[in-house]
Amino acid sequence: MISMKDVYKKYPNGVVAANGISVDIGQGEFVYVVGPSGAGKSTFIKMMYSEEKPTSGDVIINGKNITTMKKSQIPQLRRELGVVFQDFKLLPKLNVFENVAFALEVIEEHPKVIKKRVMEVLDLVGLKHKMRMLPSELSGGEQQRISIARSIVNVPSIVIADEPTGNLDPENSWEIMKIFEEINTRGTTVVMATHNREIVNTIRKRVIAIEGGMIARDINGGDYGYEG
Ligand code: ADP
Ligand code: ADP
Repeated sequence: MISMKDVYKKYPNGVVAANGISVDIGQGEFVYVVGPSGAGKSTFIKMMYSEEKPTSGDVIINGKNITTMKKSQIPQLRRELGVVFQDFKLLPKLNVFENVAFALEVIEEHPKVIKKRVMEVLDLVGLKHKMRMLPSELSGGEQQRISIARSIVNVPSIVIADEPTGNLDPENSWEIMKIFEEINTRGTTVVMATHNREIVNTIRKRVIAIEGGMIARDINGGDYGYEG
């Protein structure tokens, strides 16, 4: 489902952010990506959703080698893959409903299907009653719940999250984790870069630790493993 083979990434400034990464993540797994700042976590997951291309090696998503994929095929990949960011990245002038519906409007889904599907995902994240509000009228935790709704509205097989609780207080962080667990229970693969030691050590999942652009640990039910 997600497979990396001998992946190497050197940025134009000479920094090597991935130094020989090989890994397989199966359908339905829940994986935390941990490691010190600058270790290469973001680069690792950006290569999964084709935000960065490896300098060499292969990244295979659902059987497709995305390193040799044409630019025109990226939108198709993004439909199989939901992405959630630390800073939400909601469109400020669109209301909650419109933010979530956007991905379906782009692919010209039928309006009735859009409405039904958006309502379903807003219900899942508990924010159906706020669908007419603008992002600026919501708390951080609520904005993140909307961005998760947006990421799954296409029914992707994989959701990738880069520090999704990084801007949230502990209470909101646990709420967000409940939603990711629910999404995972429904069969979606979840890959989450995080610095949240308490979450990693409490909701035990597979832990991949990246250090110096390499996989330093890969343990099912592993712990966070760093101080501070
Ligand atoms: P992490 O997510 O673990 O903090 P990153 O993948 O963001 O790590 O960064 C890994 C290394 O690559 C760091 O040294 C960082 O400064 C560098 N880096 C990240 N993105 C870029 C970029 N676009 N251009 C140059 N260097 C980058
Ligand atoms: P939290 O402590 O959970 O992050 P906040 O204190 O930021 O939440 O917000 C609490 C409630 O107030 C939320 O339901 C949110 O929708 C509402 N709210 C926050 N900021 C605004 C705003 N600028 N305009 C309207 N409603 C707001």
